[in-house]
Amino acid sequence: MCVPGCQEAVRHALSRRGFFSGAVAASFVATAAAPDMASAASARSFTSAVDLTHTMSPDFPTFFGVPGIEMEKKFDLTKDGFNLYWWRLVEHAGTHLDAPIHFSESGATVEKIPADTLVVPLAVVDVAAKAAQNPDYLLTREDLADWEKKYRRLPDNCCVAMQSGWAQHVNNPAKFTGKDGSGVFHFPGISPQAAGWLMKERRVVGLAVDTLSLDHGPSKDFKVHRAWLPSGRWGLENVANLDKVPASGATLVVGLAKVKDATGGPARLIALV
Ligand SMILES: [Zn+2]
Repeated sequence: MCVPGCQEAVRHALSRRGFFSGAVAASFVATAAAPDMASAASARSFTSAVDLTHTMSPDFPTFFGVPGIEMEKKFDLTKDGFNLYWWRLVEHAGTHLDAPIHFSESGATVEKIPADTLVVPLAVVDVAAKAAQNPDYLLTREDLADWEKKYRRLPDNCCVAMQSGWAQHVNNPAKFTGKDGSGVFHFPGISPQAAGWLMKERRVVGLAVDTLSLDHGPSKDFKVHRAWLPSGRWGLENVANLDKVPASGATLVVGLAKVKDATGGPARLIALV
């Protein structure tokens, strides 16, 4: 016996199920028709794709000390025929992008960042040995000069990334945030002088760090954020695996959801090597 509206609901559910099983069938067809990975790889102009993204979860250390993501299961496969969560997100948590609007009144919001500034040469500056001695280490103008001496002039429209070795501490929030008894953070960042030099003397579109912030932990004035982002450039924070890519020569692909008016957002970062 079906109450009024019930048959309609059942028909709807069945057609939805039909849609999902149809989608599954279609994906099998696509898999069967896809070329094998070996021949696909030989057709690409890169040999490997390195994931520079940490896995996001409610446990990931955040600047505000609250979960960066909350997930509520709204639909369950056994009960509803499909799985689906609702997410509640902090824009700036996990591996994420800072858009120019984050520290400016009229800078670009996420959806306005041009795609061709999100696929760029990646220059990785390794300061891990110095940061191991000093958790408040600031990447200096000299670190950039050393990189250029060793490799070449920083390529135009590149992203300069600080590899401080901090990504390895991500499962140890006390070390990753370095929060002391008075609530001050201790982790490495980029010096305002180095950022200023990059803005003036080189053509760099993005800065990336493997820590919680472009500015180092103890910063109270966020000088790098306040100069870099309003200039129309973007930033990346909590980047992973920078020790697994070459210092020079990789291409960074920044993928993130194109949300209107967003000041940033979780990113999937991939380095093509
Ligand atoms: Zn941020």
